[in-house]
Amino acid sequence: MTTISINSPTAELQALDAAHHMHPFTANADLAKKGARVITRAEGNWLTDSEGHRILDAMAGLWCVNIGYGRKELAEVAARQMMDLPYYNTFFQTTHVPAIQLAEKIAQLAPGDLNHVFFAGSGSEANDTNLRMVRHYWAAKGKPEKQIVISRKNAYHGSTMAGMSLGGMAGMHKQGGVIQGIHHINQPNWWSEGGDMTPEDFGLARAQELEQAILELGEDRVAAFIGEPVQGAGGVIIPPETYWPEIQRICDKYEILLIVDEVICGFGRTGNWFGSQTFNLRPDIMTIAKGLSSGYLPIGGSVVSDEVAGVIGSAGDFNHGYTYSGHPVAAAVALENLRIIEDEGIVERVRDDIGPYLAQAWHSLGDHPLVGETKIVGMMASLALVPVKGSRAPFAYDAGTVGWRCRERCFGNDLIMRHVGDRMIVSPPLTLTHEEVDILAARARKALDETYEGLKADDMLKPAA
Ligand code: PMP
Repeated sequence: MTTISINSPTAELQALDAAHHMHPFTANADLAKKGARVITRAEGNWLTDSEGHRILDAMAGLWCVNIGYGRKELAEVAARQMMDLPYYNTFFQTTHVPAIQLAEKIAQLAPGDLNHVFFAGSGSEANDTNLRMVRHYWAAKGKPEKQIVISRKNAYHGSTMAGMSLGGMAGMHKQGGVIQGIHHINQPNWWSEGGDMTPEDFGLARAQELEQAILELGEDRVAAFIGEPVQGAGGVIIPPETYWPEIQRICDKYEILLIVDEVICGFGRTGNWFGSQTFNLRPDIMTIAKGLSSGYLPIGGSVVSDEVAGVIGSAGDFNHGYTYSGHPVAAAVALENLRIIEDEGIVERVRDDIGPYLAQAWHSLGDHPLVGETKIVGMMASLALVPVKGSRAPFAYDAGTVGWRCRERCFGNDLIMRHVGDRMIVSPPLTLTHEEVDILAARARKALDETYEGLKADDMLKPAA
């Protein structure tokens, strides 16, 4: 094995990476030519790369490092737990203290009667659990024909077979096929798809597609609806106010289980513990991951209502589980992460202090000639890039052409901001300081300026016909 360290030359690390490491969601042959950016350290809300750049991480890793990097408490808890009990499973009528404690803590934090946790290693795995659980639930209630799960186009629910199929990403569905019995309705993305409707009318219309789908598919065949409170990977799409109340009404009316995917929105991101509280939802199941451990170790889960857990629990063995369900080290680290969020009042901070401060800074970008709209809830935000100020018309180029240019200018200015199509998105650590919000906004504005100048120079400020 080649001896390398974080002090090795970047080119050597990149060459070795390209030789053996296949990256997710990446054209690896193209990346091999360019070389991946090598991250060597992280502290607080900042990354350091192998070239010595200090980069503001306005994506909190992949929407997950809610309490920021470099928390010694988490490392210490992990080390202690590794010495005490590094691994044991929770199959075969066995349990352990970290899993017991974490399940209790999650039940305490979760809204309503979501009092039971089935652990997984990630958000994708948890959604696999959810698909099996809701189908098994209805079968156990004597309605085995209730199998269909309704989701939305442009939703993201993970990358496993079930997660990908539940999600609504066309580019993913094309590769390898999808699981049967999942139906996708349109998303509540008013900016891109709202036409001449008001956001309120559009939100209602898109929610009512759920009712139409239930009636078309047959009420007796639909098991559940799944949705993210705010579509994250879909571009931080915050639905119109009319949307979620109508979805909740329809789920109640037709006895459809509501699965709320809180993988991004959970653990403070929207200014409450869960997005379900921000949007006044009553889920039967919540998917959790990411912020549960602030990404320090992989862990996810399904948080399940008394009713659903009761039925599943009384129907014999639920033949489902992961080697790492409730992994003791991951569970102990998650528990410590939740303690920190509570003790430091991080959720309240998002709601009352840093969230509103980021909102002000984010909306101030709205005067830029390239920015169509700015949207934010808590600490997740997006803005639409437009060729013509004052119009919702997209660019004349494939979606993402301009967004990618802007993202490159962000990276060039040592700011991690992502693009989804031609929307720019941020989801920073919840521990961002006021000064760091100012830096974020200044760097974002500089990146927007540079993108704008580049588009002008290349004569690309053109709307689609
Ligand atoms: N659901 C949502 C809403 C997500 O954003 C993600 C990850 N971005 C997932 C599920 C999948 O989680 P994981 O990558 O941990 O499998």
